Amino acid sequence: MNLDDLYRRVIMDHYKNPRNRGSFEDDALKIELNNPTCGDRITLQLKVEDGVVKDARYNGEGCSISMSSASMMTEAVKGKTVAVALDMADRFSGLMKGEPVEFEGYEDIEALSGVNKFPARIKCATLAWNALRKGIDEEEKH
Ligand code: ZN
Repeated sequence: MNLDDLYRRVIMDHYKNPRNRGSFEDDALKIELNNPTCGDRITLQLKVEDGVVKDARYNGEGCSISMSSASMMTEAVKGKTVAVALDMADRFSGLMKGEPVEFEGYEDIEALSGVNKFPARIKCATLAWNALRKGIDEEEKH
């Protein structure tokens, strides 16, 4: 199996078996974002306590890239400090620019590295990470 096949398999796994899909019943921080060029929509909910992303869930609809990226992002940032989560968001931006970024401890994200060759899809992949940034921004204004 070549790397492209492996990456495609990881992406489809997250698309078909999404992690952290759903919503919290209480009034957790909620961010809604969409990507009009593809029609992707995401509603991200974050529970941030004492500078740590305790939990994250998302709902939405869209292409396999946007939805798998949301699944991966929520898995990756859960339990991380806000600073580490923001650093991951920055590194993900680097990945989308074709930089050789590694996600130690959560390599699934690297499956999206091929997206940088398809500029129209980069907005799909970054949607969830943009929602994360926006959520942390709002949290810090409190
Ligand atoms: Zn999309």
